[in-house]
Amino acid sequence: MSEKVLVLDFDGVIVKLNVEWPKVYSKISELAGYPVTDLITFWKNMFGTELYGKANKIIEEYEMNALPKSTIYPDVHGALKIFNGTIYLASMQSQKVLESFLEKNELQAYFKEVLGRERFGVKRKQLEYILEKERGKKIYFIDDLQRNIDNCDDLNIKCILIRRSEGETLLQKVKEILEV
Ligand SMILES: [Mg+2]
Repeated sequence: MSEKVLVLDFDGVIVKLNVEWPKVYSKISELAGYPVTDLITFWKNMFGTELYGKANKIIEEYEMNALPKSTIYPDVHGALKIFNGTIYLASMQSQKVLESFLEKNELQAYFKEVLGRERFGVKRKQLEYILEKERGKKIYFIDDLQRNIDNCDDLNIKCILIRRSEGETLLQKVKEILEV
């Protein structure tokens, strides 16, 4: 049996990030000079530009402010503990936000690497990076956004949707992976 690798999204999987999104969108639209209605597309199209860097800094501040108001899902520690293998965090949040959250919740030790939006414009690039690093291993990716799941269909990764709002838990998803 080949070794298993777990890749987790952040917002909606590990924590519900309590960001003031309407304010973020209006700030970014102002900065961009056109109405930005979808950040995933914005990051993808603007990656590497000056605008990307500026928007990143602005949103990072909102994300940092949101952290104290955002609570970790209660099953996260348990799920990470039972997986007991290589785990990555792959998120379109900023690196600083991801690292400070992990540190505050004493979770850093579980993760081999934390992938934030500064190095990657899209989730798919993060998955390709992990595929390259973990060649030969079976990779499982858990995300709460159907779009991200659809986007990794053709990669050699098992992509799993988690619907927290419908009562699905990370602990259950990880148990299912371990049983395969
Ligand atoms: Mg998410």
